[in-house]
Amino acid sequence: MLAIAKFGGSSLSCAANWKRVREIVTGDIARRVIVVSAAGKRHADDHKITDLLYLCHAHLRYGVPCWELWRKIASRYLAIRDECAIDYPIEDDLDAIYESLSARTSADFLASRGEYLAAKLMAAYLGFSFVDAKSWLQFDYTGNVLQDASYAALQSLADGRKIVTPGFYGVLPDGRVHTFPRGGSDITGSLAAAALHADVYENWTDVPGILAADPKIVKRPAPIETLSYPELQLLSAAGTQVLHESAVAPVRERQIPLHIRSTFAPDAPGTRIGFDAPASLSASGVIGFAGRRPVSMLRVIFPENTEETALWEVRACLNEHRIETFHSACGVEGLCLLLSSGAEADALHAAAEQLREHFSGAQVKLRENLAVLLALCRSTKDIPKLSAAIEASGAPVHHLVQTPPGAMFCVNDSQYEQALRAAYQAAFG
Ligand code: ASP
Repeated sequence: MLAIAKFGGSSLSCAANWKRVREIVTGDIARRVIVVSAAGKRHADDHKITDLLYLCHAHLRYGVPCWELWRKIASRYLAIRDECAIDYPIEDDLDAIYESLSARTSADFLASRGEYLAAKLMAAYLGFSFVDAKSWLQFDYTGNVLQDASYAALQSLADGRKIVTPGFYGVLPDGRVHTFPRGGSDITGSLAAAALHADVYENWTDVPGILAADPKIVKRPAPIETLSYPELQLLSAAGTQVLHESAVAPVRERQIPLHIRSTFAPDAPGTRIGFDAPASLSASGVIGFAGRRPVSMLRVIFPENTEETALWEVRACLNEHRIETFHSACGVEGLCLLLSSGAEADALHAAAEQLREHFSGAQVKLRENLAVLLALCRSTKDIPKLSAAIEASGAPVHHLVQTPPGAMFCVNDSQYEQALRAAYQAAFG
């Protein structure tokens, strides 16, 4: 048996948590390949090491001294080393990094040092070998992972050994460090599991698995015990924060089961994805909810039939304005696109104006300040009931998209919370 165990930032935030991690790793001899994030927040007002490193980079770039900030970062790892009594001279690594810093240091390199230092310390703590992510995880210049080369490199480096490798980064063809997007250590863990044909990818986090709704909005939501890979991908894409969206594909390709577990409740069942066990259905067939907000809806209504190429033209225009589309549909009444929108209201308006000029005669309607409530359902029979419950809560459903295995309800962002509570109540009672 081989288990890849990835520990997130909250599992590594302080010495007490490092002790929990060691207990978990030594509790099962299958856990021979460990992937670590950088130390995360110890409490709500604390800083993640990665955030401090990005801040340090900004200081360097503008010629502002960053010694104080660096001391803060160093002291976190020194405290963990001392409180866990790890026999490892981390000062040498800290000094080497600090001495290498200059205005030309890349943000990716500096940000990656949080994981690098955590992995060095963790390897010493567990008595495992440190394998730098730079020596196996390879990217091309566009930032795509070179899967075959990376897998082959890790296979020969791991080769039956017990190892700790840093998450979040790898190497470009010219030897420079390159990072994934934020939260990317999940992807590293998934790639390591795929590379080594692991029996399971354990993703250890600070929640006991994926919950059926956001616990900040719904009181004590039910945990989801089993999911299929497509269901997890849909939930992650819709805003469930537990696992990075791109971490599903590598394990899915090789059908490696993924187990999301809590470092703080290691005996809890967690969420199992892609295991053979039959999926447990709630009485109503609704598995859970996720939300994406704020979003905007763009509709292009043509006086006659919609040309097939119209969708591509609209997408090209949105790309030009750097607006992300996460759902699009072409129907008899025209095109409907759901767009991620944050601060870029100007870009949205400019794109809508450009489309009005481009498709003269068509109606281009932009609706902002919406939210998408995704309901993951194993059958469509519950959708009308959910829709009715949302409407009855006073939140009109502006648009409904059925995307098996689920449905997306577009509501006003300001009414998202009441819509979620009503839908959850209708599904789970
Ligand atoms: N440390 C990185 C971040 O904070 C990567 C990770 O934790 O997965 O985003």
